[in-house]
Amino acid sequence: MLKVRETIEALKKIQVVDSELYAAQQQLFDIPEKKAEVKRQLESEKSHLNEIEGELRKLQLRQKEKEGELAQKEANVKKLDGQLGLLKTNKEYSAMQQEIASLKADNSLLEEEIIKILDEVEAADEEVKKEKGRLGQVEKEVSQKLAELDQQEKTLQTAIEKLKKDRQTVMEQVPLDVRDLYNRIVEVKQGLALVKTEGENCAACQIKLRPQIINELQLEEHLVICENCSRILYLENEEVSPQT
Ligand SMILES: [Zn+2]
Repeated sequence: MLKVRETIEALKKIQVVDSELYAAQQQLFDIPEKKAEVKRQLESEKSHLNEIEGELRKLQLRQKEKEGELAQKEANVKKLDGQLGLLKTNKEYSAMQQEIASLKADNSLLEEEIIKILDEVEAADEEVKKEKGRLGQVEKEVSQKLAELDQQEKTLQTAIEKLKKDRQTVMEQVPLDVRDLYNRIVEVKQGLALVKTEGENCAACQIKLRPQIINELQLEEHLVICENCSRILYLENEEVSPQT
């Protein structure tokens, strides 16, 4: 059976390992979310490109429709032009001329509209090209980030395996009942089971310890638990106090 002081010394070593172990496990736990975040970024970039490509297609379709409409109307004008010579009376002739003039006016409005659409198509096409370039860049960055995260994952897994082994080795020096106690606390308290005192306070929860507790710590007859946060306490100056 180890003395309390020796038990505490062993637990201190375990606590150092556990602090690293819990930090590494937390980092490992966070990696899938980091990966998902990076992938979401890429998806949103892709859907933006889809959106503006859709806009471009709509504009191109409108351009075609309007150009078709213009061609049809121009053909109509040509047809009426051809019929002018067949008309018998001046009245009919001038009526037809008026109709042709009005149709031509409509057509030049349509031409203006088409020019406007062409400008819009050009601008949209430019934007699509730019976005494609950007997406290519983002894809590169994303695959690089994912590879980094994969690497981090492996490194952490290796580190965790090693820490677990280290923990096991030191844990073998600790009596079984203390192991159980410590393990229960470290699990509930997310990696911090053993804390020093800071003056008359618990360094973890900061509560002021009763004189009775301080006294028990000094006596070193058994392990002392913080009444507030339930962690195992040890006196801060335990190691350095001169044994004269
Ligand atoms: Zn406490």
